[in-house]
Amino acid sequence: MFTTDKIRETFLRFFERRGHLRMPSASLVPAGDPTLLFTSAGMVPFKPFFMAEQQPPAERLTSSQKSFRTTDIDEVGDGIHLTFFEMLGNFSIGDYFKDEAIRLAWEFITSVEEGFGLSKNSIFVTVYLEDEETYGFWKEEIGIEGCNIFRYGDEDNWWGPAGEEGPTGPCTELHFDFGIAFGCGRDFRKTTLDVNGCHPNHNCGRFVELWNLVFMQYYQNTQGERTLLKKPCVDTGMGLERAASVLQGKSNVYDTDVFSKLLSDFGSMVEKDYGINDEIDYAFRVVVEHTRACVFLISDGVIPSNEGRGYVLRRIIRRAIRYGRNLGMTEGFMLKVADSVISQSSHVYGELSDNRQFILKVLDREDEKFGQAVERGALILNGMIGVRHWYSVNAPAVVDMYIKDIVEKDSINNQDLILRLVRGYLDQRIEQTASISGGEVPPIEPFVEVGIEHAVRKMLEQWRLLINQAAYDKADLLMLKTLILEQFENRITGDEAFYLWDTHGFPVEETLSIGKASGLGLNLEEFDKAVGAHRETAKAAHIIGGGMAIVDKYAVLDHKNVTFVGYEALKQDAIVLGLLYENKPVENVSCGQKIELVLNQTPFYPEGGGQVGDTGFIEGPNGVVQIFDTQSPLASLIVHYGQVISGDICLNDEVIATVDMRRRIDTARNHSGTHILHASLREVLGLHVRQAGSLVAPERLRFDYSHVGPLTNEELMSVQSLSNERVRDDLKVMVHETTYAEAIKQGALAFFGDKYGEKVRVVEMSASNSSGPFSLELCGGTHVHATGQVGPIFLLGESGIGGGMRRLEAVTGFGAERLFVERSTLLEKLSNRFDVPHSELENRLNNFVEELSFLRKEIAVSEQRNVVSEADKLVESIIQVNGINVLSTRCNMTNVDSLRQMGDSLKNRMSSLVLVLAIIVNEKALLISMVTPDLVAKGLKAGQIIKEIAQHIGGSGGGNAELAQAGGKRTEGLGTALSLVPKIVEREVNP
Ligand SMILES: [Zn+2]
Ligand SMILES: [Zn+2]
Repeated sequence: MFTTDKIRETFLRFFERRGHLRMPSASLVPAGDPTLLFTSAGMVPFKPFFMAEQQPPAERLTSSQKSFRTTDIDEVGDGIHLTFFEMLGNFSIGDYFKDEAIRLAWEFITSVEEGFGLSKNSIFVTVYLEDEETYGFWKEEIGIEGCNIFRYGDEDNWWGPAGEEGPTGPCTELHFDFGIAFGCGRDFRKTTLDVNGCHPNHNCGRFVELWNLVFMQYYQNTQGERTLLKKPCVDTGMGLERAASVLQGKSNVYDTDVFSKLLSDFGSMVEKDYGINDEIDYAFRVVVEHTRACVFLISDGVIPSNEGRGYVLRRIIRRAIRYGRNLGMTEGFMLKVADSVISQSSHVYGELSDNRQFILKVLDREDEKFGQAVERGALILNGMIGVRHWYSVNAPAVVDMYIKDIVEKDSINNQDLILRLVRGYLDQRIEQTASISGGEVPPIEPFVEVGIEHAVRKMLEQWRLLINQAAYDKADLLMLKTLILEQFENRITGDEAFYLWDTHGFPVEETLSIGKASGLGLNLEEFDKAVGAHRETAKAAHIIGGGMAIVDKYAVLDHKNVTFVGYEALKQDAIVLGLLYENKPVENVSCGQKIELVLNQTPFYPEGGGQVGDTGFIEGPNGVVQIFDTQSPLASLIVHYGQVISGDICLNDEVIATVDMRRRIDTARNHSGTHILHASLREVLGLHVRQAGSLVAPERLRFDYSHVGPLTNEELMSVQSLSNERVRDDLKVMVHETTYAEAIKQGALAFFGDKYGEKVRVVEMSASNSSGPFSLELCGGTHVHATGQVGPIFLLGESGIGGGMRRLEAVTGFGAERLFVERSTLLEKLSNRFDVPHSELENRLNNFVEELSFLRKEIAVSEQRNVVSEADKLVESIIQVNGINVLSTRCNMTNVDSLRQMGDSLKNRMSSLVLVLAIIVNEKALLISMVTPDLVAKGLKAGQIIKEIAQHIGGSGGGNAELAQAGGKRTEGLGTALSLVPKIVEREVNP
C-alpha cells in the first residue's frame, strides 16, 4: 500500500534524483514575517528566495512542509476540510519553467518505478484561459487528449499576487478522476459557459485536485500593472493527505492511514464506533483533526492566548473539547488523543516526542481553563437572562422612569443609570430568594452580576439608539416602549453571544441551548456577523509584497556583491562603490550631508539575527564619514548609514573603514551570552524552549522564547548560575560552514528563515572533553572566541509578552560590571548614611520601620490622652447664641479620627451643643460639624452648616443632620469659615 510515509519519501526522492535539494520542513510559525499567522503552503519559507532577497541554497528545491490554514476551521468535520496538512512541492528559483515543470510532474504522476504510477486516463488537466503555451504543451508534448484539458479563468487558474503587489502568474492543475460513479453522473460540459455539465472543478465528488503548478511569470505592482519577471519561477503544491486518498482509493481523507488509527484509538476511548452515525462521525473527525493540528502547533511554540496565533489555537482546542464532551468524554481526554498523534507522527517529526511533556501540559492547562470558562459563562448568561425577565415584568414602570431620565436630563450619567438598574433588579432578586428560602439570602455570584451589568449596558445602548432614531417626542413614548421590549424581551442578541464567546470563551452552542431552555431565542446570523467583524481585523493575508521598492532603490547601485570581512577584521581598506543622498545615487557627498554608502568590502556588521548594526568611521583621502548604522536591505548588499563630518567623499575613493571596536566587542559578548542563555533555558526548562526573537546590543541583551507561565525564582537562579558556570568553563566558541540540512541533522538550533543561503554558519560552544556541544546554533552574528570573554551574566528580569512568549533581559561583561558598581555604590551610600556595615543594613532598616510604626501608634495614643485635657480648654471657648451652646474653633489634632474623638468627647460633656472643629493636615483644611439631637429638632443640621462654610475653604462636604465633614485646599479661608458658624445659628434659630 502507498502509505503516507511512502508517498512522502517517493516524492522527495524523485525530485532529489532530478537535481532538487531536499529541504526540511520549516516551523508552522513563519520566521521573520509578522504579517503571516502561519506557514500555509510549501513556498512560504522560500519567499525570500522568490523575492531575490536571499540566495537560495540551490535553484531546485523540494520539501514536504507542515502547513496550517485558518480559513476552514468551522468546516472541519465534514470529511473534506483540514486545518493541518503536509504540502509536497518542487520549486524552481529561476531555473526551469513551464515545460520542464510539466514534464517532471507528468513523469512523477505516471512512472510506476519512481512515481505514483497512476493511469494516464485518470488525470484531468486544467489550464488558464489565455495560457496557450501551457495548453499546447500538455496536448502536443505530453499527449493529453484535448477533451481531458479544461480551461478556467482568474478564479481557478490564476495565482497571486498574495499581497498588494508581488509575483503572479497562471497555474495548471492535475485533477484525479475517481470515476463517474463518485460524482453527479452528468456528461462533461461542452464550453466554459455550460452550467449543467460536469468538470474537474465541479465539486461533486468525482474529482480531487491533486497538484497545483504555479508559474510565477509576472511582477504585479500596486497599480495592477504586470511586467515579465527576469527569472520566472515555479512553485508547486500537492497535499500529502489528498495524495493518500487518491493512492489508497479512499474518496474521504479520513478513511486513509493519516486518520484511521487516530479514529479507532478515539473510538475505543469513547466506546463508540466510527462510521455508523453521521453526527457521531462528524464529532470524531473534529476531535482527531483538531488534536493533530494542536499537537503540531504547540510543538512549534504556539500557546493558547486571546490574540493572533494563540487565539486560533485556543479556538480549535475548544472546538475539539466541545465535540468530545458532547460524545460524553470527560476532562483530559484530548491528552490521550494527542498522545496517539505523537506516537503516530514522531518517527517523521522527532520534535513531537521531544516536546511531548510540553504539548500535554499546554493541552491540560487549556482543558482546565475551558472547564472554568463554561462554568463562568453559564453564570453570566444567567444574569443576562434574569434581568430580562425582571425587565419585561416591570417594564412599564421602569421604562417610564429611565427613559425620562435619559430624555429629560441631558447630561445623565450613564454609569449611574446602569448601577441603578442593576440595583433595582438585584433588590428584587434578593427579595424573591428571601421569600422562598425563608429569610436566608445567599450572595449573588460575582459573574451573575457581570451578566446583569452587561445586559443592562446593551439595553441602554439600544434605548439611546432608538431615541435618536425616533427623534423622540413625548407622544411616542408608548411606541418606544414596545420597540425596546421587542429588542430584549424574547431574545439574546448576537452581540451578547459574541461577548460570551469572545471574552469568556463560552461556546455559542451553550448560549443557544441555555437560552432556549429559558424561552429566549438567539439569531445565529447576528452572532456570525459579530464574529466576522472580529475576524476581519485578525486576518493577515499578506504573503509576498512590498519588497520591490527596496529592490528598485538599490538596483541603481548595481553593486550587489559586497564582501563582509568583519568576522576577522575590524579595520579594512576598501573602495567606495556607491553613494546615495536623499535616496538618489550621487557622484560625491560633502560635509554635513546624511548619506548611504556602499563599499566593495566592509568590516561593518549589518543588523541581522537580532544583533545591531556596527558603527564607526570611514576615512577617505579628502574627508571622513561617521557611520551610525549598518544594514543589509538585500542579499549580499551592505549599506552604511552616516553623515560626512569633514571634507567630502567621491565614488571610487580608496577609504579605510574602521568599526567602533569597543561597541562591537561588547555586542559580541552579549551575542555569545544570548546563545549561552538559550542553551541554559533549554537545559533548565525543557527542549520546548525556542527562540522567538532577540535583541543584541552593546549595553544589554533581550531574548524572547516560548514557554508556559512565568519562571519561578529558583528557575531564574538556575538559569543564571548554569550560564555563569559555562562562562567559567571557558568553552571554545567555534564557527564552521555547512549546508542547512547537514546543520539541522547535527542538531543545530535554527531560527528558521532568518539566515540560510547556500551555506549556513554554525556557531558551536563545546568543551574539548565533552560528548556533545553545549550550544549549537545557526547564526550569522559576531561572537567572542571563548565563553570566558563574555564575563559575568546577570539576569535583569523576566516577563510575559503575550502569545505564550516570555522575555528575559540580561547584561554581560562590561554591562554586568557597571551594574555591579552601581549597586555596590548605592549600598555603600546607604551604609554610610545609616552608619552600619553592609551586612547590618537590612537589620537596621527593619528596625527603623518597626520603630516608625511604633512611634506612630504612640502619637495616636498620646493624642487620645490629650483629647481629655484639650477638651477642657475648648469648653471654655463655648459661646451662647440665642441660648444655644456654640463652639467653632481650630484644634491641634493630627488626623481626622482624633478630631472626631474630640467632637464626641465634647458632646458627652455638653448635652446640648453645635460644634465645628477644624484642623490643617498636609496643607489641607479639614472640618467636622456635630449637632446634638435636641438642636436638630430645632432645625439645625450639621450637613447644612458644613455645606455653607466649606465654600470658604474652596471645598465641599456633606453628611447628615448630626454629623458632617468637609475638606478644602484654601486654608487661608479657614478663619472666615469658622466665624460664620455663630451667624448661621443666629439666623436659623429664633430666640
Ligand atoms: Zn460533476
Ligand atoms: Zn546568534
